[in-house]
Amino acid sequence: MDFQYLADLLFPNVTMTPEEVEAKYPERNLPEGAKVTRFAPSPTGFVHFGGMYQAIVDERLAHQSGGVFYLRIEDTDGQREIAGAVDALLKTLETYGVSYDEGVEIAEDGTIRDKGDYGPYKQSQRADLYHVFAKKLVAEGKAYPCFTTEEELEEIQQADKKAEIKNTDWHVAAEQKRAAMLAQRNFTIEEVEEHLKAGDPFVLRILANGDPENKTKFTDLVKGNLEVPENDEDFVLLKSDGIPTYHFAHAVDDHLMKTTHVIRGEDWLPSLPKHIQLFRYLGFKMPKYLHTAQILKSDENGGKKKLSKRDMGAKMDDYRSMGYATECVWEYILTLLNSNFEEWHAQNAAKSYLDFPFNIKKMSVSGCLFDFNKLNDVSKNVLSKLTADEIYEKTVDWAAEFDPEFHALLTADPAYTKKIFAIGRGGKKPRKDYATFREIRPFIDFFYDDLFKMKEEYPEKFAKEDVRAVLEGFAETYNAADDMNAWFEKIQKIGEALGYTADMKAYKADPEAFKGNVADVSMFIRIAVTGKQNSPDMYAVMQVLGEDRVLARVKSALAAL
Ligand code: GLU
Repeated sequence: MDFQYLADLLFPNVTMTPEEVEAKYPERNLPEGAKVTRFAPSPTGFVHFGGMYQAIVDERLAHQSGGVFYLRIEDTDGQREIAGAVDALLKTLETYGVSYDEGVEIAEDGTIRDKGDYGPYKQSQRADLYHVFAKKLVAEGKAYPCFTTEEELEEIQQADKKAEIKNTDWHVAAEQKRAAMLAQRNFTIEEVEEHLKAGDPFVLRILANGDPENKTKFTDLVKGNLEVPENDEDFVLLKSDGIPTYHFAHAVDDHLMKTTHVIRGEDWLPSLPKHIQLFRYLGFKMPKYLHTAQILKSDENGGKKKLSKRDMGAKMDDYRSMGYATECVWEYILTLLNSNFEEWHAQNAAKSYLDFPFNIKKMSVSGCLFDFNKLNDVSKNVLSKLTADEIYEKTVDWAAEFDPEFHALLTADPAYTKKIFAIGRGGKKPRKDYATFREIRPFIDFFYDDLFKMKEEYPEKFAKEDVRAVLEGFAETYNAADDMNAWFEKIQKIGEALGYTADMKAYKADPEAFKGNVADVSMFIRIAVTGKQNSPDMYAVMQVLGEDRVLARVKSALAAL
């Protein structure tokens, strides 16, 4: 067979040579050790948590090493692109501050354009490039056209699956089709020409020469040393419409774009034999690979299952509406990626999470457990360390989009709102009251007369008269100018007069000897003023509310008793 002739026959319009293509994609001029990584999502319209996890690894490895992180849109999959999917994807990356150096971006006029010298960055615009290398493989006798139709292929696959139909007519026919398919590996030029003349569509298959009994040593940077069988499957390189499969596009793109580290999900591990063969056939040096562990979640039966796209927390955009700050999600992902992150952060409190020396060696090898409780812990911690101004700005920004009514209140008197946010903040042990912006409103709503309501009752075990007496005593003596001690002494006195001791030791020793203690007295006042049994420090709360509001609340509580 004259393979060059076959190549010209199949790709008459491909005139560029592989060398000419290579010349357009020179080695990148980067310092020693710099990594080139890429995030390569399919434009389905949303970024999955597992995708963000990978994108963060990409971003960190590239930027920590002075390298390049680029974005490639993998839009070769059968279904046509969902309108706006790329925009949505870019928006998510921007929201999370995952900054890439090259890729696609949205121009001023709203169209999507390339930035960077190694494009196009959308696979659908790279057909010419794939065809150059496809032609080369055909010319070297490493790939061949296969005219077996989709339907025939389906039948052959069914024959493999259904053992019970063995030896039926149907099975025999399917086996004949399989034989006919395999025979195409050795087609003569005349046979190929005949099909082409008839206008028969074809896919381009690799001519696999591997023996799965032979194993290739392979080191994955996360999974460690692996033994990968050689590939003996004539897998498809180009589909009948000339669009490449993932495998072929991966080899051509990552080679030309000079990727040094491929970070992708472990579901691609079984495809490694194909990729090793393809890179060898093409004469390309393989990049390094990091196959990331699946993201798992606990299921109802105490087991673990894959975080699927229908699960809460699977879509990155949902975190924003749930009210998580982007940096909280980042920090949570870092805790999943490197188990020493939290310890590092505790020791380097003043540093940004972006200063953390992310290390591939500390990545989890098998499943990574997604857990809202842990996310909430991390979030509470992160939010507690913000200044009042910072949390104010972020909450306002979030509420503008998700809770306009709350937004109006927050911004009506910024100085007042900031005083609310300042309570319990800034010291050594800041309060950790909320994990999300969504939780802030129910937590601080009592500060606003428009939102204030009695959420909890006075516990029934206390006599109404006592509650009344406490509130009356408080209303008579409260003076916002009192310092904390003076304020507390007054409350103690009110309680003592009613048989509520301020001596906690005595109370603990013999609770029956008292009606209650000073904490109960404070609780009556707290419920009257905040509508709840729990709140931050009452003295601080009252200082922010101001004397008029405090007294008005106590008076209306008395009226309602
Ligand atoms: N488009 C592929 C995916 O979404 C990318 C895999 C890779 O990063 O190579 O799974």
